Amino acid sequence: MTTISILGSTGSIGSQALQIVEMHPERFKVACLTARARKDLLFEQVRKFQPQMAGLTEAIPLTEVPADLRHIQWVMGPEALHVAAAEVPADQVLVSVVGIAGLQSVMDALEAGRQVLLANKEALVTGGHLVMEKARRIGKPILPVDSEHSAIFQCLQAAGPNRPTGLLLTASGGPFRTWSREQICHATREQALHHPNWSMGQKITIDSASMFNKALEIMEARWLFDLPAEQIHVLVHPQSIVHSAVMFEDGAVLAQLGVPDMRVPIAYAMSYPERIPTGSEPLDLFRTGALTFEPGDPERFPALRLAVECLNAGGAACTVLNGANEEAVAAFLGGRIAFGDITHTVEYALEHCPGLPAETLDDIFQADAAARRAACAYLSGLKGA
Ligand code: NDP
Ligand code: MG
Repeated sequence: MTTISILGSTGSIGSQALQIVEMHPERFKVACLTARARKDLLFEQVRKFQPQMAGLTEAIPLTEVPADLRHIQWVMGPEALHVAAAEVPADQVLVSVVGIAGLQSVMDALEAGRQVLLANKEALVTGGHLVMEKARRIGKPILPVDSEHSAIFQCLQAAGPNRPTGLLLTASGGPFRTWSREQICHATREQALHHPNWSMGQKITIDSASMFNKALEIMEARWLFDLPAEQIHVLVHPQSIVHSAVMFEDGAVLAQLGVPDMRVPIAYAMSYPERIPTGSEPLDLFRTGALTFEPGDPERFPALRLAVECLNAGGAACTVLNGANEEAVAAFLGGRIAFGDITHTVEYALEHCPGLPAETLDDIFQADAAARRAACAYLSGLKGA
């Protein structure tokens, strides 16, 4: 029996992980569940999965917890993440919260010697060097949940001692793949939230439309697979069947394919190195039709260019990009800015926060705060913000 704690259990990834647990009750037992504010859904999950501990990072009075759920440990407030990541024993910790909030949790879980299953790419974007160093020290590699990184991880199982010469990080291209730069700048919230292939949380769906998601994934891949930005290539593949690929010296390219269904990479991380049923449809290549590929376009999607610039700049540049993007996406979702302003906000923050260090967690949190201050200053100057 594997015990698993899920940070962000009410989200898109968290709830699909619980579907896998439900399919394999003989294999998984839930230790902890946390959410930010969606208490009713969390209560339902607690009732069904009977964890040892649960918590909401936006605290509510314990008197609001239904009487039949009070027998477990409840932790209210930001402390809930720490208790779930590090204090309550578990074999695995799935970090599926959104944003830089995941970094401390990943570090806490590793510090406690837990196997980390990582959906929260922001932890690697902001603190990749610290996370990877700690994972190496405890001898438990980070198991990626992000579909592209899971695909690469799966391909690398067949690599033996051979180092890849490059990674092909696939991208659906999002809803604006064929739009002009001008059209993209004026896209509405509804248009940006309509992803052609994947159903995901709001933040990552907006990031997929701007391709900031791919920018974050380039950074995530840089740390997970220890390759420089120049060896990580974005390949737009609108059908989302090839989840990513790895290139080798002899000219061979290994890819992982499947229907777009996050339960597959989630379950692979949970059951690694075994494969278990996920409820996903098998890929039927007889009916899939043509698979097409095109290069990513940094002209229309400047996030792709910014990712490489930030990785090459080093220090806390990636943290600044991430923090400013989080603020800008929140402003866009709140109807306060145009879609094109997301990129302008990030560019402004990068210009105004150059050369910040990222030696320690504290440096990273300070850089994140500086990026958010710069982003907010820019956003408050925008018409209608
Ligand atoms: P969702 O918004 O659907 O869910 C996020 C979960 O985390 C919810 O349980 C939410 O609680 C909780 N949460 C949000 N913010 C905080 C916070 N500041 N502190 C503590 N808990 C918080 O997100 P997704 O599931 O889509 O994404 C989760 C992570 O996985 C992200 O980093 C994303 O980039 C990554 N990812 C997601 C994919 C997907 O298919 N969805 C694919 C690949 C990666 P509440 O419900 O109460 O708000
Ligand atoms: Mg992805």
